[in-house]
Amino acid sequence: MTRNWKPATKLVHGGSLRSQFGEMSEAIFLTQGFLYETSAAAEARFKGEDDGFIYARYGSPTNDMFEKRMCLLEGAEDARATASGMAAISAAILCQLKAGDHIVAARALFGSCRYIVETLAPRYGIGCTLIDGRDLANWEKAIQPNTKVMFLESPTNPTLEVVDIAGVAKLANQIGAKLVVDNVFATPLFQHPLDLGAHIVVYSATKHIDGQGRCLGGIILSSKDWIDENLHDYFRHTGPAMSPFNAWTLLKGLETLPLRVKQQTENAARVADFLADQKAVAKVIYPGRADHPQADIIAKQMTGGSTLVAFELKGGKEAAFALQDALDVICISNNLGDAKSLITHPATTTHKNLKDEDRAELGISAGTVRLSLGIEDGDDLIADLEQALSKVKA
Ligand SMILES: *Cc1c(COP(=O)(O)O)cnc(C)c1O
Repeated sequence: MTRNWKPATKLVHGGSLRSQFGEMSEAIFLTQGFLYETSAAAEARFKGEDDGFIYARYGSPTNDMFEKRMCLLEGAEDARATASGMAAISAAILCQLKAGDHIVAARALFGSCRYIVETLAPRYGIGCTLIDGRDLANWEKAIQPNTKVMFLESPTNPTLEVVDIAGVAKLANQIGAKLVVDNVFATPLFQHPLDLGAHIVVYSATKHIDGQGRCLGGIILSSKDWIDENLHDYFRHTGPAMSPFNAWTLLKGLETLPLRVKQQTENAARVADFLADQKAVAKVIYPGRADHPQADIIAKQMTGGSTLVAFELKGGKEAAFALQDALDVICISNNLGDAKSLITHPATTTHKNLKDEDRAELGISAGTVRLSLGIEDGDDLIADLEQALSKVKA
């Protein structure tokens, strides 16, 4: 029944657990522990003979509602909610690897994700090969006999490149490796990596799922078998659990996710078309436009554009700073997916720690700007960009 609901209905009603008080809005269970009526009840729970809660680091009712609602949306069997997106991504990767294993990852990754695979994993004897993920031949070439995990994000931050998820999943299956997809930029509405063959999908719920700039959160979704075999013990004993307060905030965020993402995507499509006609702009990258270099893959695996637009100003860093500083409605911030429109200059903020040649490889130049569209009225966003661009020397 629940599984046949359309996404918007799942996001309002899915996974709800009601207490004896019959509260309409989901309750926040701020408790660390749980009471056992008898010693035998405690014993049974620890033996796994009944599936009640034991301790909030393992699981708790509000988190359970958030996990179940996300499972319904994603078509996943099971999930674990985490304190942040990075807690989700580091756990999803490290819980299944040991010294001597190898990761193949697309090099266009969120900065902290790149740190996990490029810097942290090798410290524990886990090898990593970073590749240009746009070409399937690169994935195939990078495979080693000990490759256990493939990792990608699509679309990528900040230049909105895409990777052929079904193609990489096929390669992973040929060698018995697991494909982990960071699906933040696509949102759970526009792309379903598990349906495309990925084994594990991860989110920073901090972004569109909260969508109102309030709290951090993350989630790992997969099959019940994979979670039982790989994540279950790792999660319990390393402690990346989400706060129940944040789980509640994110549950409420899910209720309005489709409305917000629709408005954000409409704004993004409109702003992308507007920017493409501006003299000061050298290039616009938007997954919803026919001129995206990988429009064929986007048509195959995504059902919507994106809430983000990347563009390049002819005047480099000076022009980017002049534009950002002249904006009135659009705020300068490195976050994304927020109700407020946010703009950032990757070369001096999110991607400043990369070597110059690594930035160039990712297509990030001194004039590259990333814009995350909010839910404001599109007329006001266009007017704001228009007045700010008039102050930029072309
Ligand atoms: C923000 C983000 C993360 C990290 O999430 P946090 O909630 O900030 O820990 C990971 N991947 C992508 C693509 C992101 O945008």
